[in-house]
Amino acid sequence: MSERTLVLVKPDGVSRGLVGEVISRIERKGLTLAALELRNVERSVAEQHYAEHAAKPFFESLLEFITSGPVVAAVVEGENAIAAFRQLAGATNPVQSATGSIRGDYAVEVQYNIVHGSDSPESSKREIDLWFPGV
Ligand code: ADP
Ligand code: MG
Repeated sequence: MSERTLVLVKPDGVSRGLVGEVISRIERKGLTLAALELRNVERSVAEQHYAEHAAKPFFESLLEFITSGPVVAAVVEGENAIAAFRQLAGATNPVQSATGSIRGDYAVEVQYNIVHGSDSPESSKREIDLWFPGV
């Protein structure tokens, strides 16, 4: 079933020059780009994006990180796009992500894990409405 998912290349991925690598993997997987933009993240957007983690001890640090530099935000489309991108990304903690996944290949620390991808159809809708209203 064709789906859409919200993908972010986080500030660590942008500053390390991994934007092309992430986009390339998305395209090689067979997913397509419906929207793509480099942008600075306002604190209010970061808070809404990560609202589910508001009570977690790492929340403040996560907000500081995600607003620390530009991100690349994208709407990615295709059959099973949500699960397919989560597979490309790998497990949240890069020391548990499979080699061959983005996080498994490029990250070592749980906070600095290069990419975000929506985790469900409900999250995807909420996040696309937040980042790309009207798309
Ligand atoms: P995912 O990005 O795989 O969906 P979560 O939704 O659980 O993971 O967490 C959101 C983001 O918060 C993670 O991608 C990571 O950047 C950060 N994070 C998660 N757990 C921790 C932690 N224990 N300490 C610091 N940062 C964390
Ligand atoms: Mg998540």
